[in-house]
Amino acid sequence: MTDATPERLILSGARLIYGTGARAVTERAVVVEGGRIGAVIPEGRHPAGATVLRLDGLTLLPGLINCHVHLCLGAEADPVRALAEDAPATTAIKAVVRARQTVEAGVTTVRDLGGRDGVALAVRDAVRAGLIPGPRVLAAARGVCMTGGHGWRFGREADGPDDVRRAVREQLKAGADVIKLFATGGVMTPGVEPGSPQLTPEEIRAAIEEAKKAGRRTAAHAQAEAGIAACVDAGITTIEHGIFLTEAIASKMAREGIALVPTLVAPEAIIAGGIAAGIPEFAVRKSEAVRGRHVESFQLALRLGVPVAAGTDAGTPLNPHGSIVPELALMVKAGMAPLAAISAATSVAARVLGLEAEIGRIAPGLAADLVAVAGTPGEQIGALADVRLVLAGGRVVLDRLGAAR
Ligand SMILES: [Zn+2]
Repeated sequence: MTDATPERLILSGARLIYGTGARAVTERAVVVEGGRIGAVIPEGRHPAGATVLRLDGLTLLPGLINCHVHLCLGAEADPVRALAEDAPATTAIKAVVRARQTVEAGVTTVRDLGGRDGVALAVRDAVRAGLIPGPRVLAAARGVCMTGGHGWRFGREADGPDDVRRAVREQLKAGADVIKLFATGGVMTPGVEPGSPQLTPEEIRAAIEEAKKAGRRTAAHAQAEAGIAACVDAGITTIEHGIFLTEAIASKMAREGIALVPTLVAPEAIIAGGIAAGIPEFAVRKSEAVRGRHVESFQLALRLGVPVAAGTDAGTPLNPHGSIVPELALMVKAGMAPLAAISAATSVAARVLGLEAEIGRIAPGLAADLVAVAGTPGEQIGALADVRLVLAGGRVVLDRLGAAR
């Protein structure tokens, strides 16, 4: 974190991708003042007295948004075991390091969908207070799951609508920004299957009702068809993974603006590492079983116009915190246009989080969360990985402008 960041900064010479899905533009400079984007102005008409940063040959975009991370998990081969073995203070220190890696990769906002001991909430507050470098964090505190269901090893187990209500209220009391539900089985918990429903429709309705009363949005880990449908019917904000999506459910999501956060990279990383990397056999087997269906569901969502927001599930096996590019690359590989993938990690993600007036686009008045990369990510999504400059709230958190272009 550089306290030497000038009060008024002009970012000049870059191609601009506004984050709206529109093509890159040139001959425009971005004025940053007071932590916000002050204006987008024609090149050559820079106001006097401002510090000019030359970004020639680079592309400037809104800071990227990762809608699904777990700051408490460290992408070890068996991260849930690592979490269980660490003292809470150790988990907190590691989460601080992961937050820094994240923002330095150009990801200036994350939604943390479940941890323990209030760690993600504390990281959120520390970043906000300027104590540590990191992305803006929206945190779910603990995810709510059924007894013995997916996520039980660090979630809040709850059974029956009344207990689920109480579990949600506990997260709200702890300061959660968003409520996370584990609606179905998943890959990372032994003895549960991705295709099985878990929380009942009544429990899901109760949870979402409590969240809505408090003005909070909701996210559901939902892989099985019945679980996805129950969440969509109950008015969930986002479906995470969505592996067994159907045409009827996807159509309803498109109509109601319910977003899919596919997290394609999570099972890919498990399969790539495999048992050889020390990943538990059950996780590898289940990931292999659902991989094809997962990609098909993503493609179905694209075809039917479901809003897609980018999220990596960072922290799961061999799926590290930091760059969101591996996920965007898989989305592009499965048929999404690079500019649309960028929108999924900027303006669409911001809308999904309810922060469209604050982040997700290069537009006057928004927070000066900005990232400059080498090359043309609107054509080659991989270019997003070559990060040269990151501003978070107008402060320079990474400056590699001296690196060879
Ligand atoms: Zn997750």
